[in-house]
Amino acid sequence: MKKLIKKLTMASVLLSLFMLVACGTRDEVLQPATVSIAVGVDVGDSSPEKFTFVLETVSQERGEDFTDAPFEMPLPDGSSQIEIYGGANANFDNLTFERAGTFVYRVVQRGLEVEDDAWLIDERIFDVTITVTATGNQLVADVMYTVNGAEVAEIRFVNQSISLPYIGVTGIPENYATEISHADGMSYLALVNRHFRLSSDFSPADLSVVNALNIYGNMNQWIQMRATAARAMELMLDTAYEDEGHVIIIVSGYRSYETQTSVHNNHIANRGEAEARRVSARPGHSEHQLGLAMDLSTFGLGGQLSSQFSSTPEGNWIKNHAHRFGFIIRYPANREPDTGFIYEPWHLRYIGVEAATQMYGTGWILEEFLLRN
Ligand SMILES: [Zn+2]
Repeated sequence: MKKLIKKLTMASVLLSLFMLVACGTRDEVLQPATVSIAVGVDVGDSSPEKFTFVLETVSQERGEDFTDAPFEMPLPDGSSQIEIYGGANANFDNLTFERAGTFVYRVVQRGLEVEDDAWLIDERIFDVTITVTATGNQLVADVMYTVNGAEVAEIRFVNQSISLPYIGVTGIPENYATEISHADGMSYLALVNRHFRLSSDFSPADLSVVNALNIYGNMNQWIQMRATAARAMELMLDTAYEDEGHVIIIVSGYRSYETQTSVHNNHIANRGEAEARRVSARPGHSEHQLGLAMDLSTFGLGGQLSSQFSSTPEGNWIKNHAHRFGFIIRYPANREPDTGFIYEPWHLRYIGVEAATQMYGTGWILEEFLLRN
């Protein structure tokens, strides 16, 4: 199945096959041959794009001295299907061959790749042929592979590590994005970033006014978040005041697609497109549209959204306590290459207490947390 997604500039899927052949050395019995296959995707980016690799047994031909009935070549437990993200490796370790014969494994890669300047969800099939022969008291595995049925030359190796040619992606372009479903957008763990966006009509039904102070020193009447996040925000700001006397004000919560469009266009008008993208999400790509984000400030900062917030007592308290209320600082310091955004100590994202607590102190960004959970 192929599906055209969106135009982009340039990229390639980096795929490597790496096979390791090892043999044992006992005397009497034929020692098994072991083959490990590693498949890596390097997208040159800490991209959340997901690639799936499936290792299947396709066919088994019996060797000459193999007289038993055909047997199922077992796949290593739990490793027949592996989902990985950019920069990672999928390892099919220790495929053990105890008999001579020819065994064909199929590695099916499902993921994104580029063709004619467009992203496709595509499949690439590697048929890995493992020929096992007896040499002395050892079995030796001899591996070769084809890509999509076409034989790849110069890849016959015996008893050594091999590194096969790559086909690869060098980067996920910024103008590529997958639109997430309404249901996914309603998850407290929803991932909205440069690569995943909300539809223009996404708007959560449970928006609720956040009862907290605004820049005018009044109780806010219109800034909203989803109800659960709103109550958590109120509790956090009340606690900051009750425990430490910190007065923190809310500046911007839920923003519709249309509002984000004008916010982003203002940034472009003021600082140009490239700079605008560092500080402002494009429409559909803002967590504010989720109803789970809130920008905070103080009277001392005049209600500005400033990196100086992190060095105020108020901002410092938020940094150390937000997780207790289910919030994370979504765009941490020194993570612009990964998040695409400058350090925003003022931008709080609700993900729930359990997830926020797990993330606190790890230095993970949300994408990294989601990869590990
Ligand atoms: Zn924000």
